[in-house]
Amino acid sequence: MAASLRELMGPFADEAVRCIRCGFCNSVCPTTLTSIGYIPARTSRGRLVLLQSALEKGVPAPFTPRFKELINLCIGCLRCVSVCPARIPIPTVMSSYRYSYLKTQGSRGLMRGEQLLTHYESMVKTVSRLPPPLRQLMLSRPILWIFKKVGGFADDAPIPTPEGGTLDKYFRENKPKPGHQIYAYFSDTFARFVRPSIGVSACELLEKAGIGLAYPRQYDSGVIYWELGLWDKVRELASQNVEALSEEVVKGRKILCTSPASTMMLRDVYPRVLDSMKSRLVASAVVDINELVASLVDSGKLQGSLNHVDCVIHSTCLSQHLHLTGQIVGAIETLGAHVVEVVSECCGSGGLWGLLRKNRGLSVEIGGKLVKRLKAGVTVLSYSETCSQQVESLTHGEIAVHLPHEALNYWLSKPATHPQAAHTSQAT
Ligand code: SF4
Ligand code: SF4
Repeated sequence: MAASLRELMGPFADEAVRCIRCGFCNSVCPTTLTSIGYIPARTSRGRLVLLQSALEKGVPAPFTPRFKELINLCIGCLRCVSVCPARIPIPTVMSSYRYSYLKTQGSRGLMRGEQLLTHYESMVKTVSRLPPPLRQLMLSRPILWIFKKVGGFADDAPIPTPEGGTLDKYFRENKPKPGHQIYAYFSDTFARFVRPSIGVSACELLEKAGIGLAYPRQYDSGVIYWELGLWDKVRELASQNVEALSEEVVKGRKILCTSPASTMMLRDVYPRVLDSMKSRLVASAVVDINELVASLVDSGKLQGSLNHVDCVIHSTCLSQHLHLTGQIVGAIETLGAHVVEVVSECCGSGGLWGLLRKNRGLSVEIGGKLVKRLKAGVTVLSYSETCSQQVESLTHGEIAVHLPHEALNYWLSKPATHPQAAHTSQAT
């Protein structure tokens, strides 16, 4: 007999049943606060009500594409977690439903674009290693157009395109300086194969404070699989990463992350899916680049004078969840820069959710509220690779967005200019 939704969701079914239907989550949910939010089933609260009904009465039938579409309106931004009085891990409950759905439907439960996303690491790895002329050909408009059509991605979706080179090569050629304190760097796939310049700038910035980076054996963090509900694959990757990274922790090294998604996966998700001593050991050693920079600025190990700099800080969903926004603002202001404004609207990308054609309209509607708050000509710092791409795409490149550590590295290296060089690759 096929397993029931309750059996497949396990403890997360009990979490869903605890919802008291207060609707507080609706007040912060980016997809609820849109033109579709007047339909109860398309709200955060509505998704919990649907799940409760499916779990307790079996109606509506949970393993249908229609039901999954409603659950997929949760983009995993985590904004609701801090306002829920019942302390329900709402996005994890939704991911647990997706896991259950895929257990009953197999890979046909994923649409074509989602299936392509499961090959994200191998695709960007291959393209990043191509010689420049071939890479340019692969990333040319006609090829990208075909890729988007086949995968069901929107025509205007900002597909991550590898700038060339890999961090593996960079770190083979650039070893930490003698006498520097060593951190083990977990870069994740985006910095490793799409934008190695993220890792290069982290390396350069931390070197100014006497910190060197080792680059241990590592695998994709699994955040895309986590979003899609492919939990078995998350467990496999988590286990491989924890095995490799725990060797670094045993050497007394901290694990540095330069992506909020990686920080979240290593710190929150791996201990949950593995429930092992080693995963907790690795989680306790994780330090986010913004936490590290804030502490270095605080202690005076990272110094500079950025009195000429004006910037806007975009407080991204994951920055808020990880309590990083205050640390980013604090470090930048301590170094003398003027933070003109902190804007906290969601960009609507939802990881890679907003790239899919069927989600693009809503994604653009959500991101439009953020874009309205930004003005061309002002430097925007946003701690999320996908948010940066989304804002640049929605503003047709009129607003340049940088990761905070990239901008800081540039400003501290070349004062009185803008951080455009943050996008140049030194890893090729
Ligand atoms: S995680 Fe974000 S999208 Fe999902 S229900 Fe919570 S607020 Fe809404
Ligand atoms: S905030 Fe929590 S308890 Fe209230 S409706 Fe949302 S999930 Fe349910």
